[in-house]
Amino acid sequence: MAEVIALANQKGGVAKTTSTVNLGAALRELGYRVLAVDMDPQGNLTMSQGIDVEGLENSMYDVLVNRLPIDEVIHTSEIDVAAAAIDLAGAEMALSAMIGRERALQRALGAVKDRYDFILIDTPPSLGLLTINAFTAAQGVIVPVQCEYLSLRGLLQLERTLEMIRENLSPHVHIKGILPTMFDARTSHGRESIEVLRDNFGSLVFDTVIRKTIKFAEAPVIGASLLKYQPSGRGAQSYRALAR
Ligand code: ADP
Ligand code: MG
Repeated sequence: MAEVIALANQKGGVAKTTSTVNLGAALRELGYRVLAVDMDPQGNLTMSQGIDVEGLENSMYDVLVNRLPIDEVIHTSEIDVAAAAIDLAGAEMALSAMIGRERALQRALGAVKDRYDFILIDTPPSLGLLTINAFTAAQGVIVPVQCEYLSLRGLLQLERTLEMIRENLSPHVHIKGILPTMFDARTSHGRESIEVLRDNFGSLVFDTVIRKTIKFAEAPVIGASLLKYQPSGRGAQSYRALAR
């Protein structure tokens, strides 16, 4: 049965999507079967694996709201991707009136859980119903944090949301680790951010730190992970270390 991991942080631009794709590709390289689920209406994960978002017949909206089998929206690229498009933005509203609204994703994943070793869920930059569905479906949460604009208050808010999920929906979901991203070793601010994280969250902070490099912005343009685009680069090596 797959281990289900959500990548979440209500702040945008912290490398949730980048980490989902590259951790997924790194786990795939290790021989694991990987599904990445795009739960962000922006569809960045879907696009970054070279899938044509405009041409999608169905998306995660149909899976969550109309109970379409998730198989119908899975596309195989470097990794398998359950695709999303902008229509997913309407899912929060459509789900809110439904019984079991927090468990729509968990229910959908039940059908494919035995076919994967890891299911990674990319989430939108909010703690709304889409992210709550991801938390409810997951056993663990990885929290990418941008070293530059560290928001400790945001992390505490995320931890409180998880506490509510544990009390009401899924008793065991926990933060698997905090992943420092976009680290710039040349600035004292970057180094201080890591110290602040380790002071506050101790061993919850992964040893692996993802450095800032422009390559991460280039790879999605050709629909590839950094492991494919620049296999021996430092960025690829870092996500391999994280996967291990
Ligand atoms: P999120 O999903 O949290 O909004 P993204 O993964 O889309 O964040 O990343 C935001 C932007 O930062 C993207 O343009 C991405 O290519 C870029 N990026 C991600 N990781 C790095 C990194 N380590 N160094 C430099 N740029 C990065
Ligand atoms: Mg994203």
